[in-house]
Amino acid sequence: MARTKYIFVLGGVASSLGKGIISSSLAKLLQSRGFSVTIQKLDPYINVDPGTLNPYEHGECYVTEDGAETDLDLGHYERFSNVPTSQANNVTTGRIYQTVIEKERRGDYLGHTVQVIPHITDEIKRRIKLLGKTGKYDFVITEIGGTVGDIESLPYIESVRQLRWEMGRDCSVIHLTLVPYLAAAGELKTKPTQHSVKTLLESGVQPDIIVCRTEKHLSENLKNKIAKFCNVEPSSVIESIDAKSIYEVPILMRKENLDTEVLRKTMMPLDSQPDLNKWEDFLYKLSHPTTEVNVALVGKYVELKDAYKSISESFVHAGAANECKVNVKMIHAEKITDDNAKNILKDFDGVLVAPGFGERGIEGKISAIRYVRENNIPFLGICLGMQCAVIEFARNKLGYKSAHSMEMNPDTKYPVIDLMEEQKKIKGMGGTMRLGAYPCKVKKNSIAFESYQTINVSERHRHRYEFNNEYLKEFEQAGMKATGVNPKENLVEIVELKDHPWFVGVQFHPEYQSTVAKPHPIFVNFVKAAIKHKKSD
Ligand code: GLN
Repeated sequence: MARTKYIFVLGGVASSLGKGIISSSLAKLLQSRGFSVTIQKLDPYINVDPGTLNPYEHGECYVTEDGAETDLDLGHYERFSNVPTSQANNVTTGRIYQTVIEKERRGDYLGHTVQVIPHITDEIKRRIKLLGKTGKYDFVITEIGGTVGDIESLPYIESVRQLRWEMGRDCSVIHLTLVPYLAAAGELKTKPTQHSVKTLLESGVQPDIIVCRTEKHLSENLKNKIAKFCNVEPSSVIESIDAKSIYEVPILMRKENLDTEVLRKTMMPLDSQPDLNKWEDFLYKLSHPTTEVNVALVGKYVELKDAYKSISESFVHAGAANECKVNVKMIHAEKITDDNAKNILKDFDGVLVAPGFGERGIEGKISAIRYVRENNIPFLGICLGMQCAVIEFARNKLGYKSAHSMEMNPDTKYPVIDLMEEQKKIKGMGGTMRLGAYPCKVKKNSIAFESYQTINVSERHRHRYEFNNEYLKEFEQAGMKATGVNPKENLVEIVELKDHPWFVGVQFHPEYQSTVAKPHPIFVNFVKAAIKHKKSD
């Protein structure tokens, strides 16, 4: 294999321009030409990982197969590329400093002053090259979080400057900026882009390609103007117009030749043709649904759509697989009670109770589950959502009125959800949950088996608490069955109800594994059940 090429994606002018989607789209295009690609995110904050962050701060925490708690952009990388990411694909300033400080304490730098340059920048460069050194990838795309000009990003930009110098044409820089439309003037404005490139130049980095987020098409004139002011070729000014769906962006980027520009800049062969047939099939299904369903997502971060990103994207994939538009409505768990659950939920074709931590909203989740259980509405409970289904069943079917999870009530008489044995000795909060992929054995004659069509599956986890097996017999006798179990530790992974058309609780997170190429079977089957429920109304 030829030498790995390194592509950097840096953002300017404003945050939230979609560097993750541009990086993922570029990866998709390069992949569709037969190249192997991985994407990495460098985050300039001081937390060692986002695992301890509240979703209000940074949206969902995404979990990789190898158990890394990461930025939600890694979810996009996997959903687009269908290639699993790992711990090495997300690095924060906290982790960089932690490594350097540990080395200093060990005495690795004895006699020397430890400084941002070269020690911190060397560690950043080492982490970037680590993925290339695996020999598995033609391209490593590195997205740098934050915006050019932020104090926190400086060591990263400096590392990019050094790598450009060291690697020459094996490396290329894409700068994503905003070209705003001023309605009063009736014009698109290039000045913010010019200033952003100037800021980048002050740090010694000349971008090779400029991708311009815009709500209106860029004229040739405007592209030429940006090219002239920012020292790039006109063909390297790429328009990224607002799209109806993030999944259209690879097609838009192909039209703008982002992939050929990258291949040209890195001296890679241009003779391949992108094969995006499967992607286009998916887009066709997405935009030509034959039916639609309404699903309620009961959670506590309803104001923030990024908090449940992987779940909403899983519904997009599963919807397309069923040729169905899934309208997901966020419902605030704190607003639901036994008395109003009917009013709030009766018109939904399916209800999903979200993962989460802590007391807030728990009783509302339990009331929602009681209503869907008693009224045969398709239900999917994920992690805490599954645990709430267990608590609800204990309280209202087994008659253990004070049943609870030890997380919310450590004094409960009926701890139907208990702290896992391995968790009891753990003190620290960072990276200490049961994380990443574990096997699960699926029982035949279950909705889970009907969905997976196989017995042995592997799913990703992020939790400390678990179904208390002391109660399993009682639950099974009363109609709640464990239909998926961890083969080694006997932990309950999936619960289902005997007398309900579609009631599934999963201790793991199926949403982390759903991709465009492989929609998750549990979500696909859940949407199918919602369609059936709608028809039976
Ligand atoms: N708080 C629960 C636990 O730690 C559920 C976690 C989750 O929903 N991700 O077990």
